Amino acid sequence: MNPFASTFDYVVIGAGATGCVLANRLTARGDARVLLLEAGGPDGDPRIHSLTGFLQLWGSAVDYQFRTEPQVGLNGRTLTISQGKVIGGGSSIHAMMYVRGHRLNYDQWNAQGADGWNYAAVLPYFKKSEDFEGGESAYHGAGGLVSVRANPRLSAAAGAFMEAAVELGYNGPDWDINGAQQENGAGPLQVLVTKDGHRASAAVAYLTPIFSRPNLKVKTAAQVTRILFDGRRTVGLEYLQGGQREQVGAGREVIVSGGSILSPQLLMLSGIGPGDHLRSVGVPVLQDLPGVGQNLQDHVQVPAIYEAERETPAPTILAETVLFVRTRPGMDAAPTDLQLLFSSRVPALAPPGTPPNLVMFVAVLVQPQSRGSIRLRSANALEQPVIDPNYLHCPADVASLVEGFHLIRRLASAKALAGYTRAELLPGSQANLVEHIRGSAATLWHPAGTCRIGYDALAVVDSRLRVHGIERLRVADASVMPTVTSGNTYAPSAMIGEKAADLILEDN
Ligand SMILES: Cc1cc2nc3c(=O)[nH]c(=O)nc-3n(C[C@H](O)[C@H](O)[C@H](O)COP(=O)(O)OP(=O)(O)OC[C@H]3O[C@@H](n4cnc5c(N)ncnc54)[C@H](O)[C@@H]3O)c2cc1C
Repeated sequence: MNPFASTFDYVVIGAGATGCVLANRLTARGDARVLLLEAGGPDGDPRIHSLTGFLQLWGSAVDYQFRTEPQVGLNGRTLTISQGKVIGGGSSIHAMMYVRGHRLNYDQWNAQGADGWNYAAVLPYFKKSEDFEGGESAYHGAGGLVSVRANPRLSAAAGAFMEAAVELGYNGPDWDINGAQQENGAGPLQVLVTKDGHRASAAVAYLTPIFSRPNLKVKTAAQVTRILFDGRRTVGLEYLQGGQREQVGAGREVIVSGGSILSPQLLMLSGIGPGDHLRSVGVPVLQDLPGVGQNLQDHVQVPAIYEAERETPAPTILAETVLFVRTRPGMDAAPTDLQLLFSSRVPALAPPGTPPNLVMFVAVLVQPQSRGSIRLRSANALEQPVIDPNYLHCPADVASLVEGFHLIRRLASAKALAGYTRAELLPGSQANLVEHIRGSAATLWHPAGTCRIGYDALAVVDSRLRVHGIERLRVADASVMPTVTSGNTYAPSAMIGEKAADLILEDN
């Protein structure tokens, strides 16, 4: 007998970058009934949809504002990791950069046990989702649900940055970092912006247009606290809404899409995770999976600021241009490890007291070697987990960023940037680079890898995203990445949603 008052075929936990894709694709074919549960509220705040207002949302009620443990590699500092708590998840508050990563990221995933996730296999999913302003090609899709375009209004300084890269021997300007080759070319960032100039979040692209599908039910302010099982078979879940504890059944599958911090937390609260750790906080163990919450990787960013002689108007979109490189010789078989972002003055990010005309470079470590973890603080689902990214633990990570600063200085000295780089204000030409990096590195908000795909002792899901040892339960979001991609993580997370939907529909 079904113990639940209400049962859906699929229940998706989390309406973020991945969950919105799943809700759309799972309700598109056939009549399977899907329930999408989101802990945050609707995405009605106009600042979510404007190209500049979202900066005010960082630190607001739509941001979880996770706090890390003190980080030894950051001189003992504690960081805040913003993550979206709202329909659209991170895609409703993120900086709209559309970056798929390096092709070797996916070939490495495949080599690490994620069969079927190599670049050739995932490229069709990127193309399927995309409505690229530049039209269809071998690397871009047209007519998909997600509007992607080159940054619509580049500043003159951004143009000078691309010219400076060319002067140094890189490809460009206007290099397509989502095309045949990501590395060694400077181009405008491609951005998630609709044709009428608003944020193209996962919710805007995938969810809002299908709210009226009769086989979809979306509940907001509904926080899932526990997944329910009959033996090892997933049968439903428990959630809190309006102070009430509710239960709902899942006839076919539950898909956890809570993001890289909350997905492992929910698995652990449900008895799936490192056995000793679960017992230590009083959670009965259903499946001892030591890898749940391990393998946490995140991108860190470190700024450099130059005073400009010319006027530097605020850009329309936060980051304007980009260059990806490998920082060490002999890395040819590895993905890029450094992303260099460049913008004309960003008033919200300029430190107080800085002169009015500035340009900003940001060195981003995109293949960190350091690994951190997510653990339960307690068995209480409403308490934030213990987040220890272990930032800059490995000396190689600091070395990549130091190389990033050498590259920034070479670019700043190029003729094309004359007039924009009169004086290095940050870190300053006499500064100790390692101290600057450890003292000012911040997160780029791209946690990944905490429920990773694979078949070794620390893997959490198989290559069809099924949780090892448990029936009818999958994880689909940034947490399944075996290694974080070289670049911002929205596009890969949405791609994971596209591929997950196909896997689920094939298996059912
Ligand atoms: C400030 C910021 C800037 C960023 N900038 C960029 C950028 O410019 N470009 C880019 O590519 N990427 C960017 N990112 C990263 C990108 O947004 C994420 O990689 C992406 O959103 C991850 O998708 P996800 O599906 O794994 O998780 P999320 O999008 O975080 O979605 C998870 C959702 O699940 C919900 N949830 C979690 N647990 C539960 C539960 N127990 N019950 C119910 N609901 C739950 C959450 O509320 C959330 O809505 C940025 C992120 C942030 C925070």
